[in-house]
Amino acid sequence: MCQGTTGPVDVATGIITPGAYLRLRREAARMGIRQVAAELAALPFAVMWPGPAEIARLAARIGAAEDDTEPFTLAEAELLQHAFRFDWSVYAQLIDLHADPASDGTLPVPQICRSCGCSWHDPCVRSGAPCAWTDHNAELCTACAHRPAPSPGLHLAGASGEGAPA
Ligand SMILES: [Zn+2]
Ligand SMILES: [Zn+2]
Repeated sequence: MCQGTTGPVDVATGIITPGAYLRLRREAARMGIRQVAAELAALPFAVMWPGPAEIARLAARIGAAEDDTEPFTLAEAELLQHAFRFDWSVYAQLIDLHADPASDGTLPVPQICRSCGCSWHDPCVRSGAPCAWTDHNAELCTACAHRPAPSPGLHLAGASGEGAPA
C-alpha cells in the first residue's frame, strides 16, 4: 500500500525512516519547514546571507531529507539541531539501519515515540519532568498519551483513555 503523507515506517523493516523521524521532531517543536530554514540561514556562523532565495533552497533541502530522498549527512544533521531538538545519534542510527536492510535484527533499533519522535536522550519535558514510556505501548510516550491526539495521520484506535462517554 502506498504510504500517506506521514509515511513514518519502512514497510520492509517496520522501522521509522530517518526522514520521518526528523519530521516528527520538527512537528513536535511546532516549526514549519520554512521556519527551520530561516533559523538555519540566520545561524551566527552561517556564511550565507539569509535572503528569500537561500531560505527557499534550504527549505527544499529539508523537505528532501524528510522525504528520505536525500538524507542529511551527519554534519548537516548536527547543524539542524540548532533549529530544533532531536537526537542526532538516533538519526545516525536510523540511517545505518535503513542503509543496510540485511542488518535487520542485529543492529539495535532506537526506541522512538511514534507520535512525537522523542527518545531516551531527547524526552519531552513537562513541568520539569521528562516523559516515560507508557505501560501499554512501548512506542508511545506519556506526554503523548495524556494529550488528545493532534495528528490525524496516526490511528491510535480505541486507545483514548480520556474517559469518553460510553
Ligand atoms: Zn511522544
Ligand atoms: Zn515524549
